[in-house]
Amino acid sequence: VKVKRKVQAAGTTYKTCSTCNGTGQVTRVTNTILGRMQTASPCNVCGGSGQMIDQKPADADAQGLKVQEETVSIKIPPGVVEGMQLKVGGKGNEAPGNGIAGDLLVAIEEKEHESLQREGDNLHYDLYISYPEAALGASKEIQTVSGKVRIKIEAGVQSGKILRLRGKGIPSINGYGKGDLLVHVNVWTPKTLSKEQKDFFEKMQGDENFEPNPEKSDKSFFEKVKDMFS
Ligand SMILES: [Zn+2]
Repeated sequence: VKVKRKVQAAGTTYKTCSTCNGTGQVTRVTNTILGRMQTASPCNVCGGSGQMIDQKPADADAQGLKVQEETVSIKIPPGVVEGMQLKVGGKGNEAPGNGIAGDLLVAIEEKEHESLQREGDNLHYDLYISYPEAALGASKEIQTVSGKVRIKIEAGVQSGKILRLRGKGIPSINGYGKGDLLVHVNVWTPKTLSKEQKDFFEKMQGDENFEPNPEKSDKSFFEKVKDMFS
């Protein structure tokens, strides 16, 4: 990623703070009714660092730093979630006077995938198959995060069936386990029919074999949703 960070400007030199003599603290002595009291507080000339800028290039700010664009390479762990923050140690702004640099905080935002929908570590994929494929069975290619896989669609599959491909989801950010890929089968109904096709379906209209006859194993949509969350 490209970042803009403040870095020590080359040619900046420092000298010992004359106010605190490099101790970073100033002590004040006050006379009170209880006697002389000494209080120490951070030096407000050098900000407690004990050093102040001697010379600095013209393009540096008051602290001897200047903004520089840099490319920082970051490692994204598998399973990251939208809203997470990654910390890259030492890649934030540098501190004046060779102090410890801050951290670069990277906020994670997720881009939507064109065909896979994320739900936690599980992924959902809408598979569309044709009438003949539903009736005869088919072998279909499915897009997964780790490449394409082939799945077998049994003859007589119902629209709405969910096929679970175990471990084909997203790895858990905690390092154990992987989610599943849930393939939702949708049987595509043609919007227009040729004369020949129309004749065929009209002929089949009275056919007993085309009458819906759901079995116990053909769970309803609501039962399937219940199963998924149990
Ligand atoms: Zn000082």
